[in-house]
Amino acid sequence: MKFETPLLDQLEQGPWPSVVSDIKQEAAHRAANPDGLDYQIPQDCCEDLLGLLELSYKDMETHWKHGGIVGVFGYGGGVIGRYCDQPEMFPGVAHFHTMRVAQPSGKFYSTKFLRQLCDIWDLRGSGLTNMHGSTGDIVLIGTTTPQLEEVFYQLTHEMNNDLGGSGSNLRTPAACMGMSRCEYACYNTQDVCYQLTEDYQDELHRPAFPYKFKFKFDGCPNGCVCAMARSDFAVVGTWRDDIKIDQDAVKAYVGGEFTPNAGAHSGRDWGKFDIQAEVIDRCPSHCMSWDGQKLTIDNANCVRCMHCIDTMPRALHIGDDRGASVLCGAKAPVVDGAQMGSLLVPFVKVEQPYDELKEIIENIWDWWIEEGKNRERLGELMKRASFQKLLEVTNTEAQAFHVKEPRNNPYIFFKEDEVPGGFKRDLADYRSRHQR
Ligand code: SF4
Ligand code: SF4
Repeated sequence: MKFETPLLDQLEQGPWPSVVSDIKQEAAHRAANPDGLDYQIPQDCCEDLLGLLELSYKDMETHWKHGGIVGVFGYGGGVIGRYCDQPEMFPGVAHFHTMRVAQPSGKFYSTKFLRQLCDIWDLRGSGLTNMHGSTGDIVLIGTTTPQLEEVFYQLTHEMNNDLGGSGSNLRTPAACMGMSRCEYACYNTQDVCYQLTEDYQDELHRPAFPYKFKFKFDGCPNGCVCAMARSDFAVVGTWRDDIKIDQDAVKAYVGGEFTPNAGAHSGRDWGKFDIQAEVIDRCPSHCMSWDGQKLTIDNANCVRCMHCIDTMPRALHIGDDRGASVLCGAKAPVVDGAQMGSLLVPFVKVEQPYDELKEIIENIWDWWIEEGKNRERLGELMKRASFQKLLEVTNTEAQAFHVKEPRNNPYIFFKEDEVPGGFKRDLADYRSRHQR
């Protein structure tokens, strides 16, 4: 290795996988060049990367400069420019840009796809990848400016793929694996994710928003892509009718014939299955009962949390009238603290061509683009301008579940169109009711 890295070496200790070991492995691989590649970026870039990181740990500050717009022709996002402030010392990483690549819906890969991707990146990049970034993209770490167009050409023309989002635009949408493998999927997450990615190409590639905007699609409330915590617009599968119960299978769980939780134990010995302790008492809305023979669910009060279904999957199943709930405004902390999504639409059918969803999305965008401050996420605008405003712009009728806390302001304000017959009739009604 070109540089001593005593500080980084400490990160290789302990039982965890280490990013330092991975970079060293790639550095050694590039030095040996077993495939005889004609590397298009400096062969020793990974060694320089280790040297630069070591210096950052020593100086206790980053040596990546911020700034410098780089990208591919016609796109405003997808490449994150990285320049090092010590190019003489570490020429291999003088520019070392990150490329975000759209992951396939549900993250299904063929080995052919992965080989193609790695072949491109071995030749034209550092060989280092991050599968996947927190938004969901394939992240290709480290290439030079002249290679950006080359990589982009091969991705789009040879692999039929595309760059993901970065900057103030629609970020690469993400979906759980949904109907392809999961019996709980209440709608086709992969299809809607793919379709909306296609439909909103402009928003993905040409930043025109106040800040980032994320869609995520969970097929059910188990939330495998964590949509309600990680996306401005979360679509979470749910159902309107009753949970289906197979009473014989419930008895089989109680009798110990079936293993609860589909055998997943999370390190804990459950002992003999106790339906009262493990299911009935843990139902968050206390809407279940078990009389020793029959399991009953008061479905009107079920909040569709999935706990009972996950615990006894052979006995309970999601209903047949399926769709999704829409939640808005989740985000990680930047300007304000972290916040979860707020329920906007409790149930919407999610069917091609997804016009109902798109109408909600576009109404939100119109409002946010008009009213949002620079770097203000939708969730922050909702806090600043009120949830009621979100209801108005999405033409959503206010319902009790939209109320976070009962009104604490005694001055009640009605708009004229909220009073049946208008203010005049209301006043006349009032007088007639109160005149003696
Ligand atoms: Fe299955 Fe639900 Fe997870 Fe999607 S979110 S993969 S439907 S459990
Ligand atoms: Fe209770 Fe959740 Fe089961 Fe509904 S899904 S009955 S809320 S445990």
